[in-house]
Amino acid sequence: MTKYVYTFGGKTAEGNASMKNELGGKGANLAEMCLLKLPVPAGLTITTECCTDYYKNNCKLPKGLMDEVHAGIKKMEKIMGMKYGDPENPLLVSCRSGARKSMPGMMDTVLNIGLCSKTIPGLIKKTGGNERFVYDSYRRLIMMYADVVMEKAEGIEPADGQGIRKQLDDMLDAYKEKKGYKSDTELTADDLKKLAESFKARIKKVLRTEFPDDAEAQLEGGIKAVFKSWNGKKAVSYRRIEGIPDDWGTAVNVQTMVFGNMGDTSATGVAFTRNPATGDNQFYGEWLINAQGEDVVAGIRTPNPLNDETKNEQNKHMPSMQKLMPETYKELCEVRRILEDNYHDMLDIEFTIQDGKLYMLQCRVGKRTGVAALTMALDMLKEGRIDEKEVVMRLSPEQLDELLHPILDSTDEKKHTVIAKGLPAGPGGAVGRIALTSEKAKEYRSAKIANVLVREETNPEDVEGMRAADGILTARGGMTSHAALVARGWGKCCIVGCDAVKIDFDKKIVHIGDKMFKEGDVISLNGAKGWVYAEPVGMINATENPLFKKFMKLVDKYRKMGVRTNADNPEDAQNAINFGAEGIGLFRIEHMFYGKNSEKPLAKLRNMILTDNTKDRKAALKELEPYIRKAAKGTLKVLDGKPLTFRLMDPPLHEFVPKLEEKDKIKALAKERGMSTKELVKRIAALHEVNPMMGLRGVRLGVVYPEITETQFRALFQATAELMKEGFDPHLEIMVPLTINVKELEHQKAIADRVKAEIEKKFGVKINYMYGTMIEIPRATLVADQIASVAQFFSFGTNDLTQMTFGFSRDDVNAIVKDYIEEKIIPADPFNTLDQEGVGQLVKLGVQRGRSQRANLKCGVCGEHGGDPASVHFFYKAGLNYVSCSPFRVPVARLAAAQAAIEEERAK
Ligand code: ADP
Ligand code: MG
Ligand code: MG
Repeated sequence: MTKYVYTFGGKTAEGNASMKNELGGKGANLAEMCLLKLPVPAGLTITTECCTDYYKNNCKLPKGLMDEVHAGIKKMEKIMGMKYGDPENPLLVSCRSGARKSMPGMMDTVLNIGLCSKTIPGLIKKTGGNERFVYDSYRRLIMMYADVVMEKAEGIEPADGQGIRKQLDDMLDAYKEKKGYKSDTELTADDLKKLAESFKARIKKVLRTEFPDDAEAQLEGGIKAVFKSWNGKKAVSYRRIEGIPDDWGTAVNVQTMVFGNMGDTSATGVAFTRNPATGDNQFYGEWLINAQGEDVVAGIRTPNPLNDETKNEQNKHMPSMQKLMPETYKELCEVRRILEDNYHDMLDIEFTIQDGKLYMLQCRVGKRTGVAALTMALDMLKEGRIDEKEVVMRLSPEQLDELLHPILDSTDEKKHTVIAKGLPAGPGGAVGRIALTSEKAKEYRSAKIANVLVREETNPEDVEGMRAADGILTARGGMTSHAALVARGWGKCCIVGCDAVKIDFDKKIVHIGDKMFKEGDVISLNGAKGWVYAEPVGMINATENPLFKKFMKLVDKYRKMGVRTNADNPEDAQNAINFGAEGIGLFRIEHMFYGKNSEKPLAKLRNMILTDNTKDRKAALKELEPYIRKAAKGTLKVLDGKPLTFRLMDPPLHEFVPKLEEKDKIKALAKERGMSTKELVKRIAALHEVNPMMGLRGVRLGVVYPEITETQFRALFQATAELMKEGFDPHLEIMVPLTINVKELEHQKAIADRVKAEIEKKFGVKINYMYGTMIEIPRATLVADQIASVAQFFSFGTNDLTQMTFGFSRDDVNAIVKDYIEEKIIPADPFNTLDQEGVGQLVKLGVQRGRSQRANLKCGVCGEHGGDPASVHFFYKAGLNYVSCSPFRVPVARLAAAQAAIEEERAK
């Protein structure tokens, strides 16, 4: 029989930290903490497999599960010296979710399960008559249980703001207002008792079921509800964004309750063993006296600081735990040490103090900003906790990318006034229009408008809006609130707990300090400091960090695959070299005809395209040649000694002339060229192709009009010869695009040989260059061995290869791909991340067949996939010599390549 239940407690456990797949992160780490002899309330973990079986089984608990649970509870009772459901000495439990990968706040947890009319009196007696505590726990149970078990798990979707939790919260607020209370802690036992009764009445009225007054029913309901929360709306959208598979399932942890709400010697808190925003080696956390765990993350009260060293804007006047509970604080510091020694990483921990006694409730490797990840990794190297390779593994490519992202320009910042201060929860800077709802943020995002999501509090339901926003600003919540955790995980600029923010939803306005803003007004955020500005502030890049350089040095030490860049002008090339590019993998000459300074060469190109005879075409090309030469020469000069792969002209010619329906443009162009409009229309019509992506482009252009290739060869060889004469070291590689067989290569090579001989004679130099091809049509991969008899290198053009393999038009396919992903027909957009099982096979095949003909065939990739970490891993395994990507992705590709090499070594 499958074992579904693993117990932990009493300084021992059936599981351990390596069992995340089975027990979820929370369960595995609870077990590990028991093995480390830390004080953990006894409990049991129901496996993720059970969740999968539950769903397979039409949402029924597998047979025998509850027997296993009861056996586990027996063990817990023995360890804790209490009994579940017992009228004299009742044990209460929480039902906690916990997937393999942490999904903060996205699934549900219910506390205080087991409280009912049978057990309430016993618990009061046991706590020396602490009625207030018992009824506080009871009203919390009712609120959470109604929300999670009776509403969400039942699939009830109330209208916005009509959810049962919201209704009960409103009742609580109304009651407090009536009594003139400011804080929850002022509620008396009597108040809480009354509230519990009216809560239950409201639940019955709204949900039409009785709140269960039975410990056993509550337990089973709790377990099922946690399983159900795996498919809750917010959990599903979070998984989409994070790429977590739907079939992983969540574990359920049933754990003995300990109480932080028993009075002023009790408390609850959350901490990080190092500062998750900056990476500083300081114990960083927040805690609340007389409260239960969810109060801290939900931002109901402003939490106190853990110690004096890490006080912030929001809590600087509040006493720390170090001050108020020095003994327990010391104990917690010891826990910090033990955990870091064991995990060799920064941990995020949850703890509760029940009447002076410390209990650990959770630990996991903590989410952090890119800057913090960098700082911590290098610190831990110094401390001897991790080695250099591990340092390289500690930054995800996304975190590195985040380090390259813009921050507010501090010089410009000084010219503006800070209008409000909050907590610096997520890194970088953001300038954008105010969005007051997730919908609005999403709307802005689809219109490509930078925006800042401004919300009252940190609400996990907002995850899609948070994703769509460039920055997040909230009025409430602490550094450990859900929004802060999520934003940090994404490296998104985020300020929380900014109490100067007052939102008026009805009027769609927000006051920040004494300024008033409408939705759509622009504000700026400094996420590293927690500062808000009323106007747009300039932004700059954040690369000049010495730690960044040190880190990239280690990356290159362990990297084996080359990284080049796609660049078409000297500035981009220089930029990419600064980012560590080792050459250019794709130089697209067409880019000379777009954007600034393109008028003159574009006019020559049009002359060439629009003529109908070879003589005129040759004349036009002759005028174009100096422009090509100049473009190639300028970039080759910057690269001096590093290779430049020049791709012969590729795109369909009609892209460079007006469309037939653009009558005004045609008229103007005809006038400019001194030809009749009618004649011009005829020429443009002649260029028309039904399917230009499969038409006259790439090498086909050079075969049909050999003079076009000849001009390019002439420009390239002359640029090379001139540079050699000037004392530079040009490494030219010429590649032929869209090849389908070796004959095309031979055809073009004959031209190259002839032109090269001419130039060599003229300049009196010997030109060395490489002749190669792109592999971007499936047929080419099949005959790669023949192709390699002429080609000295392959460059896989994975954009076109994907287009041709799928038969998806790159330019039109977006809508289809979106539906395909939603319907789970394909896992991801194949133009973003390489389709490894399909297109990837062609890449492997091409490499293999090519090298069977030419053992030292150099193989690389150009195209967007070269900057996608998952694809880079694949290319490394496929044996490619290099990837090429846009300049800004170069550091990311370097890191991904190094990580692929280290992973391969570790797998051995
Ligand atoms: P999440 O995954 O959203 O963090 P948790 O399962 O960790 O949810 O529960 C939320 C909070 O409830 C935690 O912060 C923790 O402090 C509190 N909690 C959970 N189980 C217990 C327990 N057995 N005793 C006391 N507090 C608990
Ligand atoms: Mg937690
Ligand atoms: Mg192509």
